[in-house]
Amino acid sequence: MELYSLTIHAAQDKLRRGEITSVELTGSVLERIATVEEKVGAYISVQKELALQMARLADERRASGEDNPLLGIPLGIKDAIVTQGVPTTAGSRILGNYVPPFDATTVARLREAGAVFVGKTNTDEFTMGSSTEHSGFHPTRNPWNLSRVPGGSSGGSAAAIAADEALGALGTDTGGSIRQPASFCGVVGVKPTYGRVSRYGLIAHGSSLDQIGPLAKDVEDAAILLSYLAGYDRRDSTTLNAPVPNYVADIKQGDNLKGLKVGVPQEYFVGGLEAGVKTVIRAAIDKLAELGAEIVEVSLPNTRYGIPVYYIISTAEASANLSRYDGVRYGLREDGGDMWETFRQTRKVGLGAEVKRRIMLGTYALSAGYYDAYYLKAQQVRTLLRQDFEQAFATVDVMVSPTAPDVAFEIGSKVDDPLQMYLTDIFTVTLNLAGGCGIAVPCGFADEMPVGLQIIGPALGESVILRTAYVYEQTTEWHQQKPALL
Ligand code: GLN
Repeated sequence: MELYSLTIHAAQDKLRRGEITSVELTGSVLERIATVEEKVGAYISVQKELALQMARLADERRASGEDNPLLGIPLGIKDAIVTQGVPTTAGSRILGNYVPPFDATTVARLREAGAVFVGKTNTDEFTMGSSTEHSGFHPTRNPWNLSRVPGGSSGGSAAAIAADEALGALGTDTGGSIRQPASFCGVVGVKPTYGRVSRYGLIAHGSSLDQIGPLAKDVEDAAILLSYLAGYDRRDSTTLNAPVPNYVADIKQGDNLKGLKVGVPQEYFVGGLEAGVKTVIRAAIDKLAELGAEIVEVSLPNTRYGIPVYYIISTAEASANLSRYDGVRYGLREDGGDMWETFRQTRKVGLGAEVKRRIMLGTYALSAGYYDAYYLKAQQVRTLLRQDFEQAFATVDVMVSPTAPDVAFEIGSKVDDPLQMYLTDIFTVTLNLAGGCGIAVPCGFADEMPVGLQIIGPALGESVILRTAYVYEQTTEWHQQKPALL
């Protein structure tokens, strides 16, 4: 078995036993990148020398007696998360030359643990999209079928893991951007509860929705990564000052799901759900029942408002967040003679069509004449969505659903139809609006492409969703399948 195909926990065992060094492991991942990256395009930038330098440092730390689960492990970091001294673009030309002078808190924590950063993974521009086709640089391809999208916006991170170009990665999820690409690429992805993980150093999209989370080859790796990411940060006042459980210990509490109540939201099994996906998800739910879980139908009656509410609130927040990119403070500057013309030219050249569309939508929803009709109304319906979830979680421990209504689609098939693209998020956006956490875990194939089961938990329910996913995963082999890339 090649070193690049190891999971984090398997690689860690080998590092501990002295069978391999981080330099060897990192070298293997870099070679893999050199072989497949031209086809996949998972990264915006790869920092080869820096990665080897970090690997040498990790080996020295180990030689001097240090040991922890991420020491010497090569990871990819979504390019919407800032890394000190390493270009960070958020997938946008407007930040094409931006080199941050600081680390995001999540990155700082991984660095402290001794992880190795191999590169910055591709993303839709400012994380706005569901396919990574809206990247300002290049699209990423799905390692399972190179003519299909990897999902988005963390498509680079998901594809990198599926193609063995990293052992794990960070993504961000505003409306599904970790879970949906994880589902499309056959890997595991966790959206933590809002406030569980610091957003300091995350380039903002929708500030009340954004969360950083892990993408990984299996559930145990995701639990390891999350245990480093989670926790209070004095630099982000929205982080929760709640104790961080031992996720790795928690997932291994027993090998069945007896006593677990699993809700199946009836509204998630109608309309646009593709038949092949539905069959696979139903089979996964049967498996949970076999493992001892009690399956009950639940209702989230306001589900149909999820997409409209999400696209009002997220664009409103984005329009405010993106006003800082004006050619003065960061990145690109297109001189227009006077101040206004410089703003205009910089944004015209630096921002892509989807980002411009969202700035216009959000500005409109916040404008004086329409604020009450759109933004305020959306906030009120958001409360209803949250109440739907609270009511459901009064009777069940977790809920399960498809992650997306279909498998990965063809590159180019939705990019000119924003509404079709937005609808791919129908099963994921509500969770970000309502609060709570979610995981996507591989559960089969439809149309020869991976399908992910979404397991949804209440606020701070990371342990229970991870454990449900882990027990399920232990009895299946979906997560061990690899695309035949070469
Ligand atoms: N696809 C959704 C959007 O385009 C979600 C993006 C995300 O989670 N960052 O906004």
